[in-house]
Amino acid sequence: MTRWKEYFTPATVDEALTLLGQYNEGARIIAGGTDLILEMESGHTIAPEVLVDVTHIGGFNEIRAVDDTERNDGSQWIVIGAGVTHYQVERNSILGQVGACLTESCRVVGGPQVRNVATLGGNVAHALPAADGTIGLLTLDAQVEVCTLAEGHVTRAWQPLLSIFAGPGKNNLTRGQMLSAFRFRPTSVGEGSAFERIMRPQGVALPILGLAARVHLDDSGERVVKAVIAIGPAGPIPFRATEAEDVLTSADQFNDAVIADVIAAAQGQARLRTSKHRASQDYRHEMIAVLLRRVLPKAVERARD
Ligand SMILES: Cc1cc2nc3c(=O)[nH]c(=O)nc-3n(C[C@H](O)[C@H](O)[C@H](O)COP(=O)(O)OP(=O)(O)OC[C@H]3O[C@@H](n4cnc5c(N)ncnc54)[C@H](O)[C@@H]3O)c2cc1C
Repeated sequence: MTRWKEYFTPATVDEALTLLGQYNEGARIIAGGTDLILEMESGHTIAPEVLVDVTHIGGFNEIRAVDDTERNDGSQWIVIGAGVTHYQVERNSILGQVGACLTESCRVVGGPQVRNVATLGGNVAHALPAADGTIGLLTLDAQVEVCTLAEGHVTRAWQPLLSIFAGPGKNNLTRGQMLSAFRFRPTSVGEGSAFERIMRPQGVALPILGLAARVHLDDSGERVVKAVIAIGPAGPIPFRATEAEDVLTSADQFNDAVIADVIAAAQGQARLRTSKHRASQDYRHEMIAVLLRRVLPKAVERARD
């Protein structure tokens, strides 16, 4: 039985937001549907009468490198449309080089059928603190483009990824808004990133813990001068381990002793929970250490390549 009355496939953001405004509470955005349809089936969300499918919007399925016209110094952004699937990210060879942690985080989402349709926009908009693609993007210090329809006009604004999360499963978007793209600075010489997660063998959706790091080394290749570390789930929204980042960048050298200090800082700042079907708080605490010992040396090794 179809649970909705109308299914629209707009070709532009203007059209999509106009439809959402027209049907108001009765309409929802759908992309791959791998979260939304399950929620409708399980009764976790009230089935909307109208679904607005955003995957046919021009540019939504594209991954591209664009010049930063504001800086005008040759630097670039990697721009990923909100309708890009995890499979597209996984298969994109440029992303593998300049955003390895994102490639690695998208590669483990669900199985091939899920990755074929599930989008990065849906992963972020669903706002779960453990969402894998979201952790990959956060580690790349990504920004998100939010489109807003007001008084008949659509405006677009880039904002930090973290700014759109309000709590577990809740984003800050209003009825007249949607996500259209993500962008990040590609890793270049002296930089590297990596992602790993711990998953129950029989697990199908979210990990016990996912963790990624991006590092920038100095010219000697011995010292980390910039770092981003993201962990999920480690709080109500996707989590940046900022205290651990500070420990890493204030050390004179990258070595095992520093990793131990980084672990202690991350464990101290993370707000871990026991979840009934996945893991205890204590287990997650230990897994922060395991994952940092795997991910940090890998990111540093890639930065030295
Ligand atoms: C079997 C299975 C395994 C899974 N495994 C994993 C896993 O290992 N790791 C993981 O992180 N996730 C996993 N998931 C969850 C899911 O696949 C991802 O979260 C997926 O990326 C959601 O994208 P979607 O396109 O399917 O979103 P949809 O279900 O279409 O939408 C999700 C939410 O986002 C909103 N939305 C979608 N696009 C936009 C937009 N452009 N702007 C604003 N709002 C938007 C929708 O209204 C809805 O509220 C799994 C799901 C299944 C069914």
